[in-house]
Order: sequence, then C-alpha cells, then structure tokens
Amino acid sequence: MPVLSILFSSMIHTPASIIAIDGPAASGKSTLGRLLADSLGYIFFDTGVMYRAVTWTALQRGLNPSDETAVSSLAQQIQIDVLPASKDDGRACDVLVEGQDITWETRRPEVDANVSQVSAYRGVREAMSRQQRRIGLRGKVVMVGRDIGTVVLPEADLKIYLDASAQQRARRRYDEIRARHGQAEYETVLAGVVERDRIDSTRDVSPLRAAADAIIINSDSMTADQVFARVLELCK
Ligand code: C5P
Repeated sequence: MPVLSILFSSMIHTPASIIAIDGPAASGKSTLGRLLADSLGYIFFDTGVMYRAVTWTALQRGLNPSDETAVSSLAQQIQIDVLPASKDDGRACDVLVEGQDITWETRRPEVDANVSQVSAYRGVREAMSRQQRRIGLRGKVVMVGRDIGTVVLPEADLKIYLDASAQQRARRRYDEIRARHGQAEYETVLAGVVERDRIDSTRDVSPLRAAADAIIINSDSMTADQVFARVLELCK
C-alpha cells in the first residue's frame, strides 16, 4: 500500500463493527450490551439465552442434565430462535424453541441451577457457537457471553471483559429477582453465582476467561451508565 494511503487510512476512525463482551454471571454484560447496541444501531445478541433454552428444553423433556449424550443430541436437533422483543414486559428479546415462546422460562431457578453443567458439554457448545459465529460475522453486532472474544469471534474489533466481585453481582441479581416479584434469599443467590462461575471457568471446553487482547473493566465502583460511557468511547 502506498505511504499516503496508509497515512490516510490510519486517520479515519471507523467504529468497531464486532464487539465481544464476556464476563462472569451478573456482571452487567447484558445491560451494557443492550445500551451499546441501541446507541450504535447494532444487533444485540446475548448468547447465554441459547444455553438457557437448551437447559430448559432438556428439563422439560425429562432428560437428566448429567446425560451428556442425550443433552448434546437435543442441542443439535432443536431449533432455537432469538428475536427482537415482541412484548414490553422487561424482556431483552424473545427466546423461542420450536416456535414456542420460552423467554421467561429460561430465567427459572432450575435453569440457573443446571445451565452451567449443560453448557460445559462439547456437543452443546459446538452446536451453539456455530450459530453464534455465523450471526456475529455479519458485523454491526454486540455479542455477549463467556467465550465470545476467545472462541466464537476471536477476530472481534473490540473485546471487553466485564468483571465485578461475587457479592456485588449477587446483590444485583437478587435485586432483579425481587423486582420481578420473585422470592429469593441473598445467600442462595450468592452461592448460585459462585458455583456457576466455578463451573464456567474450570470446564475443559471454552472456559470463561479474558482474551489476551480484551480490555478488562471492573464495575464494582461504577454505575451502569459509567461503564457504558467508558465502553462507548472505546468503540469509537
Ligand atoms: O449469561 P447468562 O448468565 O445468562 O448465561 C447462562 C449460562 O450459560 C452461563 O452460566 C454459562 O454456563 C453459559 N454460557 C456459556 N457461554 C456463553 C454464554 C453463556 O457457557 N457464551
């Protein structure tokens, strides 16, 4: 490339087109991802809902979550659709399995308790990440999960790893459950968050970790708006 073109192209700042946000449970990834996608006019894709959909369907069909072969084969067969929210009831998107709306079912405590085991299975991960990668490569997307920057979209233009203490994250999750009129004990929510982190970060396939080129943000002493402002700057 001629020197002038190199100079010129290095002066043009195009916003990041593929944005990957990873981090542990309840670290604020979805709130951040949604705000970013809205402000940039990008698609917001929360990959956790796909693992939740597989888990709920497995439980619904009476499969034992410990049965790796059966759960993996289910993951490869069912059709999961993640569509823009059709109702104004607090949902970020519609989650459909075989055409049935299961958006709120994916948030049930039994899904929380089993989703990390199900998403540790190689067959489940292969089926989910293949679809996620296809969607992500189209660009203009904010994709949120555990392995987006490391495995699903390693070519992402911007990688954020959003972290916070387990206590802070459990407090946020507890407040969310209470706000939806659900019953919860803070200690139980905390134990669930810690256990999910343990399984997610120690599994053999695509464990939760920050990509080497990710920007790590600890949101313990930041509001959601502050985190958003910081990352929006980085995007531009
Ligand atoms: O983000 P959320 O808490 O809804 O994700 C639910 C679970 O799905 C996580 O605890 C993790 O086990 C799994 N997950 C994953 N990889 C992703 C997204 C979610 O393993 N990319």
